[in-house]
Amino acid sequence: MLSVMEIYQLTPKTNCKKCGLPTCMAFAVALLGKEKKVVDCPPLMEEAKYQAKREKLIEAMAPIEGASETGLIIHEEKCYGCGNCVVACPVNVANDPKGTALGFGPTNDKAILVVEDGVVKCLNVEECRRFGPNKILCNACTATCPSKAIEFV
Ligand code: SF4
Ligand code: SF4
Ligand code: SF4
Repeated sequence: MLSVMEIYQLTPKTNCKKCGLPTCMAFAVALLGKEKKVVDCPPLMEEAKYQAKREKLIEAMAPIEGASETGLIIHEEKCYGCGNCVVACPVNVANDPKGTALGFGPTNDKAILVVEDGVVKCLNVEECRRFGPNKILCNACTATCPSKAIEFV
């Protein structure tokens, strides 16, 4: 989890107020408090010069924003890294014909669920079928987890 200061460093730091807050520091605080989302900063989302910051911030905030959008949370203490969920996730499979589609670990960076250091991590959460206005109540990951390490809240 990033600190407020680390999140602030990934904002444009221009205090333009387009997010409705007076400063980028206030925006960083609001991100941590789930009162704002990364997409609420127009310059960050729209301007090419912020691409690297945008990608880092979206990845860093995925566990927080993803849980609130998709309801998916991971109980790391229950996960023993079996990888069932990784190869069961239909998005992982569709995006990785040479890896998860064949029952192996991800071979590219498009996976939602990956096992790192023996524990599952949730990345690219905006790709999850439970994300966004057209969401589908997919449950392939929870259904295949033998230890109830993934839950929808
Ligand atoms: S819209 Fe983005 S750049 Fe502008 S003040 Fe808010 S966080 Fe900072
Ligand atoms: S809910 Fe479905 S799409 Fe989302 S991570 Fe789980 S298996 Fe993948
Ligand atoms: S979350 Fe469950 S299915 Fe996925 S790696 Fe961990 S124990 Fe296995």
